[in-house]
Amino acid sequence: MSKLVFAANWKMHLGPGQAREFMAEFLARSGPRRDRELWFFPSAIAVETVASSTAHRSDILIGAQNVYWEPKGAFTGELSVAMAKEAGATGALVGHSERRHVFGESIEETALKLRALVEAEMTPVLCVGEKIEEREAGATIPVVERQLEALEGLDVATIERIPIAYEPVWAIGTGKTATPRDAAEVHNAIRSWLVAKGVAPDSVRILYGGSVKTDNVSSLVSDPEIDGVLVGGASLDPVSWAEIVNADAD
Ligand code: PEP
Repeated sequence: MSKLVFAANWKMHLGPGQAREFMAEFLARSGPRRDRELWFFPSAIAVETVASSTAHRSDILIGAQNVYWEPKGAFTGELSVAMAKEAGATGALVGHSERRHVFGESIEETALKLRALVEAEMTPVLCVGEKIEEREAGATIPVVERQLEALEGLDVATIERIPIAYEPVWAIGTGKTATPRDAAEVHNAIRSWLVAKGVAPDSVRILYGGSVKTDNVSSLVSDPEIDGVLVGGASLDPVSWAEIVNADAD
């Protein structure tokens, strides 16, 4: 049985002190479950704190929100893959819509970050998703497929271990959520794109992200196309996050 994934993206919130307090409260409310994995993407400066406070929980994985592809050097403000790894991260988000649309990160840059993580045997979580004007123009699938091209050139076994997060830009932080059916349609197109590359249909995990909350998580994770959720705002409160990760499928 593949495990459902509940991933928390804390964005630019919760420094080390607040992260420590969060974890104390969260861990007291949420024990390990055999059918679930929990992933946390704290701010870079809180990765070590979250990794050390969850070291006893093999169901919890820690990732960075962003990494740079060069191994070291004069890149002020950047975080190398090796540094993230040393702090306790085993993966990182790549191509999050805020990286693409606030910081202007290109598909080529996303691909470089992805490769740097793969080379370090870390797990990139590739985020893809369309803007509202792209959805309204009927371009959702081509936009997402273009973003998936960051995987081009990787061998099938490598692609199979890279989770994809479908996060429609219009649903992130807006309170608007894709219906399970809308999300499932795009997940299905992503799976088909991967299968055309030679990937086994069930080997890739595809998460949904975009205004997931306590009141919609159950219906989303009930859909067989949705292998888990990536959550921003509602993961910042330990009580609501514990409720989300313990939600039952409908
Ligand atoms: C995200 O940041 O990846 C996200 C999905 O945010 P939110 O849950 O706040 O929409």
